[in-house]
Amino acid sequence: MSTISDEELLAYADEQLQTELSTQIEKTLRHEQTERERLRNLLEHRDQGNLGVGDIWRHERLSCPQRSELGLFLINALDVQQQNYITFHLQQVGCSYCQAILEEMQSTSTLEEAGQLTKKRRQHLFASSAGLLRKSD
Ligand SMILES: [Zn+2]
Repeated sequence: MSTISDEELLAYADEQLQTELSTQIEKTLRHEQTERERLRNLLEHRDQGNLGVGDIWRHERLSCPQRSELGLFLINALDVQQQNYITFHLQQVGCSYCQAILEEMQSTSTLEEAGQLTKKRRQHLFASSAGLLRKSD
């Protein structure tokens, strides 16, 4: 009897599960043909847009933002929609996985990513002031 939920199977297919669970599901799929068929059916249904709101909600719950997105979130560099989604994911869904990543980032790589962004802004700024200079001569 299977203990894997449809949502977990889909999350597995999307590579959104933590390693431990993902390995476990992979093992099950390798041994159980019925599970493989279930996953195939699920994916087909999803591709046809047959998932109900509840399914999408449950699926969304499992959808963790990319690490890079979390980094941008920290420095407020995402568009409002993404920013809201991640806020929702962290606060309403309360995803402890992403919270842990965020905490780790706050202490280390955020600074680096922010630095890269600043560099981009500076390049942009340089480009526009070069334009201004050209106009004024
Ligand atoms: Zn998450």
